[in-house]
Amino acid sequence: MFVTANEVSNRVFSVRSEIGSEMHRLMGELYPICRSITGNGVRETLRIISRHIPIKIHNVPTGAQVFDWTVPKEWNIKDAYIKNARGERVVDFQQSNLHVVNYSVPINKRIALPELKAHLHTLPDHPDWVPYRTSYYNENWGFCIAHNQFSALTDEEYEVCIDSSLELGSLTYGEYFLRGESSDEVLISCHVCHPSLANDNLSGIALAAFLGKHMSATRNRYSYRFLFIPGTIGSITWLSQHECETAQIKHGLVLASVGAGDKLTYKKSREGDAEIDRATFNVLRHAGGSYEIREFSPYGYDERQFCSPGLNLPVGCLMRTPNGQFPEYHTSADNMNFVQPSLLAESFDVAVRILHVIESNGVYINRNPKCEPQLGKRGLYHAIGGIESDIDELAMLWVLNLSDGDHSLLDIAERSGCKFDAIKRAADRLLSHDLLKQAV
Ligand code: ZN
Repeated sequence: MFVTANEVSNRVFSVRSEIGSEMHRLMGELYPICRSITGNGVRETLRIISRHIPIKIHNVPTGAQVFDWTVPKEWNIKDAYIKNARGERVVDFQQSNLHVVNYSVPINKRIALPELKAHLHTLPDHPDWVPYRTSYYNENWGFCIAHNQFSALTDEEYEVCIDSSLELGSLTYGEYFLRGESSDEVLISCHVCHPSLANDNLSGIALAAFLGKHMSATRNRYSYRFLFIPGTIGSITWLSQHECETAQIKHGLVLASVGAGDKLTYKKSREGDAEIDRATFNVLRHAGGSYEIREFSPYGYDERQFCSPGLNLPVGCLMRTPNGQFPEYHTSADNMNFVQPSLLAESFDVAVRILHVIESNGVYINRNPKCEPQLGKRGLYHAIGGIESDIDELAMLWVLNLSDGDHSLLDIAERSGCKFDAIKRAADRLLSHDLLKQAV
């Protein structure tokens, strides 16, 4: 037997107060690590996640051909700085890993200020913030600094050092497979390639990890595959190496930027009316908070790979404020103070509810389809109107009317305007009174 909607609701609310703090704590532990699309930062991140869920770590060698792409050289970094004429570190990687353009090639030389400035990145509109920049597929080097600091650079010459390596190695990703009763799968994916950025990256990792932990404690109809992968190249690599298995993926969610922003945002799959799209809409519509549903677009996170036309998987993206649409995005202001445990908890709660809809949806047949069955004699109808009761008669009438073998519980929830949980509860009650049977 699966857990009932009531049991899920109770469990969600009991964990909700603590789960946000636990997610925030995991993010704080991961925050200082210098991650990239390859390298030891990702391995260290996966090692820490494996304390929560037993992920399997995979390494794909540099040079591997993955669809139209090639797995790049592995990048690692020990140190980096810019020293002034007095030998003082005015920019220091040890203070923030955002100071180095991610994937910078090694360099160690004295350089005149005008030449240095060509390698510096700033945010003039937010002069105290440090931007996050990458140069994955174009060998280059650079530093990111606050614009105020940029304006204060006056020495004629500086010493620049980036103690990095770009060598043959591998792309590393983590995978947690949770076998359910069916070999049909739900794919949950997050990117693990950003350095010290909290909302865009770490919040998705924390949500995926805690969702994995949560689902491992329940008996599931579906099998669950959690991917902790570097953005873009990670999903391309996984998809290219597991193309045959993608037929098993019936539903999927990319999780990103779920720790800040007052509303939840769901970006639909390419199909737009997949069960995951409809399940998420039903949950958000009845969750009581503000939300936004966006149509699919081929830009954003890894849903653009999962939803590429040759694969067209039913994968949507659950976020709060979308990528690029909050000023702190890809800057040093996306730090641990920017993300709130209560918002992380709400995102977790909604994600659990979405999976609950997917797990509980089904098609039933009314065993007494000629006129309504007499609910009163079964104790399923109020004897006297106006009395408060946990019996949702309207939900039961909808389930009885539309359970003709053609409508799923989610169809009924949509048509009736009811919350899925109410429809599911009504169906459970009718099943227990032999008024419904499962469609084959
Ligand atoms: Zn990002």
